[in-house]
Amino acid sequence: MGTIQSIDPATGIELLSFEEDSDDIVDNKLEAAKAALPLLSAADWGGRAVWMRSAAALLESEIEDVALLITKEMGKPIAQSRAEVLKSANAMRFYADHAEEFLAGRELESPEVVNATAAGTRYEPLGVVLAVMPWNYPIWQVVRFAAPALMAGNAGVLKHASNVPQSAIYIGELFTRAGFPEGSFATLLIGSYRVAAVIRDKRIAAVTLTGSEEAGRSVAATAGDVLKKAVLELGGSDPFIVMPTADIDAAVDTAVKARISNNGQACINAKRFIVHEDIFDEFTGKFTERMSSLIVGDPSDPATEVGPLATESGRRDVTDLVEDARGKGAEIITGSSPSGPDGGWYFPPTVVTGLTPEMRLWEEEAFGPVASVYCAANLDEALRLANALEFGLGSAFWSNDEVEIDRAVRDIEAGAVFVNGMTISYAELPFGGIKRSGYGRELSMEGIREFCNLKTVWKA
Ligand code: NAP
Repeated sequence: MGTIQSIDPATGIELLSFEEDSDDIVDNKLEAAKAALPLLSAADWGGRAVWMRSAAALLESEIEDVALLITKEMGKPIAQSRAEVLKSANAMRFYADHAEEFLAGRELESPEVVNATAAGTRYEPLGVVLAVMPWNYPIWQVVRFAAPALMAGNAGVLKHASNVPQSAIYIGELFTRAGFPEGSFATLLIGSYRVAAVIRDKRIAAVTLTGSEEAGRSVAATAGDVLKKAVLELGGSDPFIVMPTADIDAAVDTAVKARISNNGQACINAKRFIVHEDIFDEFTGKFTERMSSLIVGDPSDPATEVGPLATESGRRDVTDLVEDARGKGAEIITGSSPSGPDGGWYFPPTVVTGLTPEMRLWEEEAFGPVASVYCAANLDEALRLANALEFGLGSAFWSNDEVEIDRAVRDIEAGAVFVNGMTISYAELPFGGIKRSGYGRELSMEGIREFCNLKTVWKA
């Protein structure tokens, strides 16, 4: 078994390292998860809601420590880490409040049409679900799976990203500390090479993965082989379209946030800015000015707006994408090469124009603060550019023309369209993608139903 390291991306210095769980430890955790199922069921909605609310309260009471841990392990600016903790606690309460209503099932009003005295549906938990999660929101990504799954009566085991073991251990213990039965939710400290064996284990009913396309392909292939349900939340290269009737200053303001939040490492960051030619120079000028004046530095300093990238390999990937575009004739208006405090994995906010289809940046996801800006002659061209990729996660459309807005909402190929705003996840709204951004939904009513058996009940 290997070791799993926690490294501070602001310095490149190791914080802690952990031994991977042995096969026996993994086996015990899966057995405990299975054993927790009848207890979760017996607790019913009310009991599970009490535990979920106390998990939310516990998380909130530990906000300062947890936020610092997130920032130390993956480099997110500290204010954003605090916001992540609060958002997670709110989602836990949201599901404590609404799970029963979301999973209420229904009764047929005229059961005689199906030759029954009563007939209808009910939602039941599937069992133990494996969650394979990324490092970019080390607490939120886990909670948005765990809160609905546990409230539905499922148990969960988590394989978190290998660069955030401290966050993984914290969230793996939170639910049982709050009162959930032992084994209901636990972290498996394992490398990704062991995920397939866990999916194949008979005690695992289903799997959810948030991460890259490559990981999605691998998890979906194994789940397909053993015919288990899978939900995939994969990458995106979200378009952010700006039309001439838009409020340009507001669009610039939001565009900057949409590109650099989470140091540019969110699946739903706007990554491609598609701007109508009439306002291209104005938008690009103002946007570039703002991007180049952002404060890059130590993420635990409250003044910092952009911290380091989470991993050294992530910074190499972003550098390669930008260098490939430069080599093929793109114009780098600001930013471009790794820079920042010594030892840290910093990459400056960067704006690129003049992109062409032979550049990797044209169609690959830039997981860092790199904005690609495209010029479109009209709405048709803007939509064509937006839909040109195989991704379909989020999108933003800026305009004050209702006809244009209707058309964009209908024609953008994505799991979400945000009009005059930026894509954000809300517990109240379903979240997920189409095309190579994955399948299935998280959050809201649709998310909690993903890991349930919709059982039809018919009575003579
Ligand atoms: P990643 O390398 O795919 O890792 C995500 C998780 O999958 C980690 O736990 C990782 O474990 C595991 N993993 C990697 N390869 C695997 C394999 N072959 N089989 C099984 N598990 C595997 O992704 P990342 O770099 O951490 O995250 C960035 C990607 O996630 C981006 O593409 C981003 O857009 C996407 N993302 C999507 C959403 C969404 O909701 N759609 C949200 C956030 C992020 P190890 O760490 O041990 O390799």
